Amino acid sequence: MTLSELQEMAEGMGEKKFRGKQIHDYIRQQGILNVDDMKTLPKDFREVLKAQTIPTTLSLTGPTAGTLTSTDGTIKRSYLLPTGHTIESVLMPYKSHHTACISSQVGCAQGCVFCATGQQGFGRQLGAGEIVEQVALFDIMLKRKGVKNGVGNIVFMGMGEPLSNFKNVMSAVSILNKDFGIGSRRITISTVGITDKIRRLADTNSQVGLAVSLHSSSDDKRTPLMPVNGRYGGVSGLLSAVKYYQDKTNRRVTFEWAAIAGENDSANTARELGRTLRENGVRAKLCHVNVIPLNPTRGYGGKKAGVGRVDEFCNVLREEFGIEATRRTRRGIDIEAGCGQLSDVKRIMDVIGGGGYTKPKVGEEKEIKKREEVRGRESLGGGKVRSPVEVMSRKLRKVRKGYKRVLELEGVKERGGKLTRTQHEKIKTKKDVERIIEELEEEIRGVNGGS
Ligand code: SF4
Repeated sequence: MTLSELQEMAEGMGEKKFRGKQIHDYIRQQGILNVDDMKTLPKDFREVLKAQTIPTTLSLTGPTAGTLTSTDGTIKRSYLLPTGHTIESVLMPYKSHHTACISSQVGCAQGCVFCATGQQGFGRQLGAGEIVEQVALFDIMLKRKGVKNGVGNIVFMGMGEPLSNFKNVMSAVSILNKDFGIGSRRITISTVGITDKIRRLADTNSQVGLAVSLHSSSDDKRTPLMPVNGRYGGVSGLLSAVKYYQDKTNRRVTFEWAAIAGENDSANTARELGRTLRENGVRAKLCHVNVIPLNPTRGYGGKKAGVGRVDEFCNVLREEFGIEATRRTRRGIDIEAGCGQLSDVKRIMDVIGGGGYTKPKVGEEKEIKKREEVRGRESLGGGKVRSPVEVMSRKLRKVRKGYKRVLELEGVKERGGKLTRTQHEKIKTKKDVERIIEELEEEIRGVNGGS
């Protein structure tokens, strides 16, 4: 809940407005959620509050929900939404601060081929509250651990294209500014290049940072990687919007570059990028190129570029074009929390007994390549090619198996049997499993032509 919602709630309960602010400060500044620990609130009010449920939308309990921690300290959370969808957000610890990478949509409609979210397809837009809550929950977790400053930076680089959900994302930014004290300069919005919204962002005079996922500077290479390229006037259309942004705001733009071995990692490709930026009037001094070796996803067979190639790529940009370029370290790969790895499919498969990223075995690459070439078909990994109906039916079978187990456990409970905590959690989520089944059935009907 936002500060004003908490203030309204307090007033609605016959209390003074500032009680809402007190609750807000307990939650935001100290990570305290237990009403009994909010000692400065009058005892009577605490009792009334305890009977109320302060509404939260994101649940960490459910078949597709949970928390994973990487060996490098990165934390990924998968939240179940009341609509049965799953979204993921990531917290990355650095020496001086913590950065939260949050989602703006359920899935994504842009279909970038190297991205697990794109491979998943679009679910729905997230509301401003759902976006903010991702930050709030990390913030509370950090403050409970004694990290006084909580979440320091925020990047909209999770699931979805933030500029396609412009209104809700900007409302979320405003709440994060006011309620969390996280200034716009510490927030970055990443886009694949929704050009009209880049201009609109420039016109708002917001101090939010802009990152553009570029990955290639020529249309013939970028469009197959990122179909959105064809819809917004190609690379030149995108760079014209970037130029507008630079001219209007005088702010730096970050270009994201997922370095794929043999595709876009050569020194000549760096030169082509430098020239294209220059020819399109993009100011080098207001550019930064972040080069990150590609993260693996099950639907794309490209490989990460080597460190040496990436360093050479960055050197060319710096030395020949005066463009700042940095090789970024991949993070959270072991828990699929890296850029382009967020997706709900793995969580569903984990819970119901399957899935997970399978590194292609030697000799499987050829089959995977073939898979990528088969239009309208997708795969669950392991190199096997399956039609969409086969994929969905397989998922459905597994969800149903999980559902059967839930019913069995419920039977145990009804008969007075004792359940473990995990079993309890599963029973609580019976409705969620039902929803997933319904969605999958609908999806299969859709793929079959709506019969
Ligand atoms: S890279 Fe971003 S825009 Fe492209 S499919 Fe993934 S989430 Fe969507």
